[in-house]
Amino acid sequence: MPEHDVLIIGAGLAGQRAALAAAEAGANVAIMSKVHPVRSHSVAAAGGINAAISLDDDWHSHAYDTVKGSDFLGDQDAIEIMCSEAPAEVMHLEHIGVPFHRNDRGEMDLRAFGGASMKRTAYVADITGQALLHVLYEQLLKHHETVARYEEWFTTSLLIGAEGECAGVIARDVRSGRMEAFVAKNVILACGGAGQCYKPTTNGLIVTGDGIALAYRAGAPLMDMEMVQYHPTTLVGSGILITEGARGEGAHLLNSEGERFMSKSAPNKMELASRDVVSRAEQIEIDEGRGVGPDKQGIYLDVTVVPRKRTLEALREIVSLGRDFAGVDITREPIMIRPGQHYIMGGVKTDIWGRTPIAGLYAAGEVACVSVHGGNRLGANSLLDTLIFGRRSGENAAARAASMGMPDVDTSAALKRDIAEIDAIISRDHGGRRISEIKDELGVTMNKYAAVFRDAEGLDAALGIIQRLKEEATKAWIDDRGTVFNQDVLGALELGYMIDCAEATVVAAIERKESRGAQFRTDFPERNDDDWLKHIDISLNGAGPEVSYSPVTITQWQPEERKY
Ligand SMILES: Cc1cc2nc3c(=O)[nH]c(=O)nc-3n(C[C@H](O)[C@H](O)[C@H](O)COP(=O)(O)OP(=O)(O)OC[C@H]3O[C@@H](n4cnc5c(N)ncnc54)[C@H](O)[C@@H]3O)c2cc1C
Repeated sequence: MPEHDVLIIGAGLAGQRAALAAAEAGANVAIMSKVHPVRSHSVAAAGGINAAISLDDDWHSHAYDTVKGSDFLGDQDAIEIMCSEAPAEVMHLEHIGVPFHRNDRGEMDLRAFGGASMKRTAYVADITGQALLHVLYEQLLKHHETVARYEEWFTTSLLIGAEGECAGVIARDVRSGRMEAFVAKNVILACGGAGQCYKPTTNGLIVTGDGIALAYRAGAPLMDMEMVQYHPTTLVGSGILITEGARGEGAHLLNSEGERFMSKSAPNKMELASRDVVSRAEQIEIDEGRGVGPDKQGIYLDVTVVPRKRTLEALREIVSLGRDFAGVDITREPIMIRPGQHYIMGGVKTDIWGRTPIAGLYAAGEVACVSVHGGNRLGANSLLDTLIFGRRSGENAAARAASMGMPDVDTSAALKRDIAEIDAIISRDHGGRRISEIKDELGVTMNKYAAVFRDAEGLDAALGIIQRLKEEATKAWIDDRGTVFNQDVLGALELGYMIDCAEATVVAAIERKESRGAQFRTDFPERNDDDWLKHIDISLNGAGPEVSYSPVTITQWQPEERKY
């Protein structure tokens, strides 16, 4: 049976950064991923990564922008760590080979991004995530003697020891269907977000909330789950992302009257206000009949105001996306976009070292909620979050491993249980619904009721539907009864994870009776610091979610009205 000091579930940026940090600290490390590491969703990240590296910038300014962007729900101790450690992290990436874009003077170039008071986003054209992920993977290969790689292994549950500590995982080899127990002194969840709970979403098919549900089922609390980011510029229909880099380069948003409507809600920052503000402004234009397109459900993003040479150089990926998925040459005509689900600010509650309340269990990256994003994430702060808290989790887990022996845990019962669960899914008769039908209904429901604008009636309706889908999922059937690359059976497990995440999201959204960040309640349209300047924590109690609260950490920035 494999045994490791530090076992990392997820090989996106958070997981790979954690693995490198733990390996460099001398631990015996393993990294597991349900897809090949460079297919992890971090590869899709486009616009860049924030750090106060310019001479006239200061990490305090980055931190204040992040606190303000979070609508004062972010924990300021964690934000201070992220922003103060950002410059060294980005320079480290540069030194290990990330080819960041340079300006005419040969310095690292920085682009403007939403909610930032100055240009501080380092980038590699609009393929920043791909550049980062490939360079980190090269580094990981250098450590092949101390880092075991379980590529295309799917984690089905966490192993919990007699004292309630995390002592490893149960996983399935996707290639053969073989199930195995892995014992570990520490497990770091780096499984990414849960965007597939929504339809459409900018997130890939593999982003199904696995890590959030695994931790939740093992007893770890979730935090800020109601805070779901709608990105202002996603293609109408497909939901594919058009990076904020486009607005950073100067693109305009226009309604059907040709008006730059952002002047109404953000006269100073205009298109570069924070994402929650811009998405709401777009939705208002659409809801009030000033949308564009045949059914007026879109808004124009006009990139033609950016010099064509610059667009072709710095935004080449979205030039291709526009052409291939909307039939539009964005250098010559506006493209139709609308707000679309993009990111979850919530996740597994952690401290500033990535530790959850379960001993030996860590979380980092989009799966986690150390609460650096609070109610709304600033663009280009997520890549930073993955790297800073991935590294810190790896370092802390390696240090913890050095002080303890390998857990003595009985793995057989958990292994048998997971094998039996998978066998039962494979052998279900065709009486119920298909997995894909249930997943579609879940996504459409979330996009209808838990979107840019929410109210009690819609959220209650969503909860009722989710609870029915939860029941239907227990009988849903699949076609593939084999063992080799049986994606059908993994899809059934992922559906269960997504339903858990969606339920926690809606319960938290019902609970928060105010409007803050990405949560805008039309029935409670004001921010209410007296009653709601606190985190909502969701824990699994029996079969359902239970709500509790925790305080927001405020260090230097008192809540104030947010204006852009
Ligand atoms: C289109 C797009 C563009 C973006 N652009 C930017 C940007 O420019 N700047 C920015 O800051 N942020 C951006 N973001 C957000 C950012 O990319 C993500 O939040 C971040 O990359 C998440 O990284 P991660 O390491 O947490 O997870 P991921 O990269 O999603 O990796 C998750 C890993 O977990 C593994 N995994 C999941 N479940 C299991 C399981 N059950 N068993 C085994 N392995 C499992 C997966 O295989 C994968 O390896 C963008 C997001 C999208 C969708």
